[in-house]
Amino acid sequence: MHRGPAQAEASGRNAQTGCLRRPPTEDRADFFCFLDPVNFVSFRVNFGGLAMSAAQIVWLRRDLRLADQAALVAAAERGPVIPVYVLDDIGAGARKLGGASRWWLHHSLSWLAQALEARGSRLVLRRGNAAQVLAEIAQEAGTRSVHALHHYEPWWRAAETAVAARLDLTLHDGNYLTPPGTVKTGGGTQYRIFTPYYRRLLDTMPPPAPLPVPVLDSPAQWPVSDILADWSLLPANPDWSTGFARFWQVGENAAHARLTEFADDVAAYDRARNLPSVGGTSRLSPHLHWGELSPGQVWHALARGQSESFLREIVWRDFAQNLIAQFPDYGDRGYRREYEMLAWRYPAQDRAAAKDLAAWQRGRTGYPIVDAGMRQLWATGWMHNRVRMIAASFLVKHLLIDWREGERWFWDTLVDADLGNNATNWQWISGSGADASLFTRIMAPLTQSAKFDAAAYIREWVPELAGLPDAAIHEAVPLSPGYPARIVSHVAARERALAAYRAIKAKPA
Ligand code: FAD
Repeated sequence: MHRGPAQAEASGRNAQTGCLRRPPTEDRADFFCFLDPVNFVSFRVNFGGLAMSAAQIVWLRRDLRLADQAALVAAAERGPVIPVYVLDDIGAGARKLGGASRWWLHHSLSWLAQALEARGSRLVLRRGNAAQVLAEIAQEAGTRSVHALHHYEPWWRAAETAVAARLDLTLHDGNYLTPPGTVKTGGGTQYRIFTPYYRRLLDTMPPPAPLPVPVLDSPAQWPVSDILADWSLLPANPDWSTGFARFWQVGENAAHARLTEFADDVAAYDRARNLPSVGGTSRLSPHLHWGELSPGQVWHALARGQSESFLREIVWRDFAQNLIAQFPDYGDRGYRREYEMLAWRYPAQDRAAAKDLAAWQRGRTGYPIVDAGMRQLWATGWMHNRVRMIAASFLVKHLLIDWREGERWFWDTLVDADLGNNATNWQWISGSGADASLFTRIMAPLTQSAKFDAAAYIREWVPELAGLPDAAIHEAVPLSPGYPARIVSHVAARERALAAYRAIKAKPA
């Protein structure tokens, strides 16, 4: 519904002042301007003589927010907006969403649909091949215009190509601090090592100021939508998600609440972030992954020199996506190919390795810090970063199981499962990455547990050990009833890993 200047709403302010005028374009009968960046108030002015604009589809993926959403803003500038989410399990192939991701997606879509309805709009849900479904919706709505934020996962890039072949797709930036591929070395090449990338990226900061929520006009007729509950994204029989609901509030509002809460703690981040017993990290990862919050919003909220180490982590997220953009198979193949030759134990072919993998997945390795992490993951869909590193290192080095087994398990069980972050970190731990830790740096889980004071964390997630004093809990000695003995000895496992490494180094290149 368009309104004339006299009816323009501007929260009591003069509709003709403070307006960032953008001239009307051929397919755009109106434009809007932002008067009040604090309250995100927007209004629009109608240029009466121009024709009604064509509807604009906004194709949402991992950008489930209304604020700082460049695709939504661009679409709203041009005409009535049709926000669409397509559940595309076909295009993603083996990378279709894992169980924990589906849980998060259900709640995030549910929140977004309500937020859109509160603004007089809707969320259209459809299932199937994204390009095909969007073409059908475009036909129903009598439009060709689709707006979306850039995504860099290979299946999303393929989908973007397929959509662009059928419709007028405009891609916008906004899910990263800088568009992946744009931070380059002096020689014009892309970075593969984090620290110089980080320094160069800082030169381009701050990111643009976050965009406000636009006013959304409705199309003359809404395309039909699936019913979210019919997608069965939530687990049933058994419902393993009860712990998730206790641990998380999902959606854009909850993301901002978490950000505001964390702003009080960010100054202590550098000291607290490695201590799993302390909630010293932001727990923003699923909100960032699903795009309920943009990194630009995080930067502007927290960047005021309060914690450089926190900003570094946010930049790691950008860096990881740069690696995916450069190497689309980064989630499937080691960057350093020589690691493919290591004498990995493959669970599909080796019964003992399969048993070890299952013990790791279930949190029954006999190493309390590893088990606590794996159980936290199963119960909440999230694991503390320090413990992710210890648990991943244990799988790859103590159990000599290929990082891809762990990456796949995390893909299924993390609510923040993210191709860039997951693959980059697994390859970092295993030594096979473009930027990686040395394979020979083998984390000692018992030492790590004591060093980072994980006693309370272990008590919370491994109740069998709750009665042990701090000094004994890291090693689980004496053995408590119901808690397993260690599946490998640290010393023997370390020796096995180093021997396997020496063997590939001894091979002629
Ligand atoms: P904070 O410490 O508060 O950090 C703030 C944000 O910075 C995070 O939300 C995240 O977006 C980003 N960030 C932090 N650490 C890293 C990192 N090492 N690499 C990339 N970005 C980072 N993170 C994911 O978001 N998805 C994954 O699938 C994922 N898989 C991982 C697998 C392994 C083996 C390891 C070791 C780490 C993985 N991480 C992953 C990175 C990191 O563990 C999580 O981002 C972090 O624990 C999330 O908690 P937080 O939001 O409290 O982080």
